[in-house]
Parts: sequence; structure tokens; C-alpha cells
Amino acid sequence: MSLVAVGTVAFDDIETPFGRAEKVIGGACTYISLAASYFVKPVRIVSVVGDDFPEEMLDYLKKRGVDLDGLQIRPGEKSFFWAGKYYRDLNTRDTLDTQLNVLATFDPVLPEAYRRPEFLMLGNLTPQVQLRVLNQLKQRPKLIAMDTMNFWMNTAMSDLLKVIKKVDVLTINDEEARQLSGEHSLVKAAKVIHQMGPRYLVIKKGEHGALLFHRGEVFFAPALPLAEVIDPTGAGDTFAGGFMGYLAKTGDTSMSNMRRAIIYGSAMASFCVEKFSVERLQGLTPAMIRKRVQQFSDLVHFEI
Ligand code: AMP
Repeated sequence: MSLVAVGTVAFDDIETPFGRAEKVIGGACTYISLAASYFVKPVRIVSVVGDDFPEEMLDYLKKRGVDLDGLQIRPGEKSFFWAGKYYRDLNTRDTLDTQLNVLATFDPVLPEAYRRPEFLMLGNLTPQVQLRVLNQLKQRPKLIAMDTMNFWMNTAMSDLLKVIKKVDVLTINDEEARQLSGEHSLVKAAKVIHQMGPRYLVIKKGEHGALLFHRGEVFFAPALPLAEVIDPTGAGDTFAGGFMGYLAKTGDTSMSNMRRAIIYGSAMASFCVEKFSVERLQGLTPAMIRKRVQQFSDLVHFEI
């Protein structure tokens, strides 16, 4: 089934306790589309870059079956740029810089082939742009998921609430769930956020896994204990790409399949963090992904 993904395609500067990477490939949509491309083809992306974005990366995305017809390339302009720094526990990070550049004036135009997707992933970017994408759809997708972050809660809350109202699944991290709901308890936060619109809420907890809330039911997926975590950037987006990619591949949005999708998303995120930028998401094989999913199953399996 078809998947459209919206979000930033960007450059990042990243500092972790294990090293630095400057002007590397980043962006929510980049991670989402790479992860989803292991499950469905084509993944149709809606985004914007300047003419500073490397052609090799665009060629690689195309080779992976990512449709770039909805990607605007603006001559003479600079791509979105983000700089972040992680601390010892890798769950805490500070945004050091956000330069919107091309994103500041981005007006998404959906090509005709994009207007009836069965699955839509509204990745992290300006809520106004997420809304404009929704307004161009010719029919409502079977499932709309959305990701966002504190930056937009601080700068565009009223537009953000308008988008949240229209989606089925919201994926945010624990601190963002607390900020959005005003509740410290994640169980109470989930109740408040369900009332804002989304039937499903995924709360990402970094190295402590992810929670899926739906109608009073909770499912928990751990994160895989890894020998080496180098760079958590993009883990949330990669999770979303794996989650939506798996749902689009199977076309099944039942709660039991959502649970499986959470595990596939977590498996893809476990690859992402093993190297800087998108490096580890290149060149994976179905066998490598199957093996990771099996490790998740083994990790939590027990007899009562
Ligand atoms: P994650 O670690 O999953 O939250 O995603 C990190 C990616 O999000 C980075 O590659 C950044 O380029 C991108 N990013 C950072 N800030 C924003 C923002 N305000 N809007 C959209 N994308 C962002």
C-alpha cells in the first residue's frame, strides 16, 4: 500500500560523548523514508532542500525506491540545519541551533500521484506545512501518523493542536508528552492527548523503549540493549519510518498488528543509533532486519 512521508531533509551537527559529526545528512524525512524503504516502495516524500544538499544522497534515496517528485530543490538557498549535543545518558539532548533556511518559506505542493495515499506519515516540521499537506489530500488516508517536537510546541502551539486533532497516531517522546498534556504521569498524559484527537499515542522513551496507548490498553516495547550506541539522532524518525513502513506493507491497522509494527520500528531504530547520521540505515538486508526482530522477541519472551 502507498506511503507518503513529510518532514525535514537536512544537515546536522552532532556532538555525543563519543565524538562529533559536522554537516552530516539528517532530517526527519530522510530517516523516515530510509527506514520505510525496507518495507514499501515507493515511499513518496514531501520536503524541501537548498542546492547545497548532496546529489549522491538524493541518488541513493532514489535507488532505494524513494519517490522524490514531492521534494523541492531551491536554487541559491540553504537546507534546514540543526545542531544538537547529547550528554552521558544519551537520553538528554540540547538543541544548540536550528536554522530554518528553506523551511521558513516552504509551501508544499503534492504531485497528483501523492494525493490519495493509504498511509501518511507527517514527520517533524512546521505544523503549518503539515496542515497544508493534509488540505491537499483528495481522500482521507487509512491511517495518518504524526511526529513533532518541543520546538514546535514552543513556537507554533495553536497550529500544532489543529494538526494533532486530525491524526490517528501521535508519536512524541516522554518529555514532549508531559509538555503537551501538562500531566507528569504518562498514563494521565495519554488520556489528555487522546482527547486532543489521536486514537493511538506512541510515547518514545529512548533507550527505555516505547509505549503504545489505545483505548485504555498499553503495549510496551523495550529498546534492544546494544553494545555500542554512537548517535541517537534520528532514532525517533527511524522508528516512525519502520512503524509506518510495516503497517503500509501489511495494510493491517488492527491493534495486534500495531504491536508488531512497534517492534519493527524499534528494530529499525536500533540500527540507526549504531553509527552517526544515516550511515547504518544504508545497506541493510531483510535478513538483518528479521534477526533484529527475533532478538526483540527473545528479549521479552517468558513463560507464566
Ligand atoms: P530525532 O532524533 O528522531 O528527534 O530526529 C532528529 C532529526 O530531526 C535531525 O536529523 C534534525 O535534522 C531534525 N530536526 C531537528 N529539529 C527539527 C525541527 N524543529 N523540525 C524538524 N526537524 C527537526
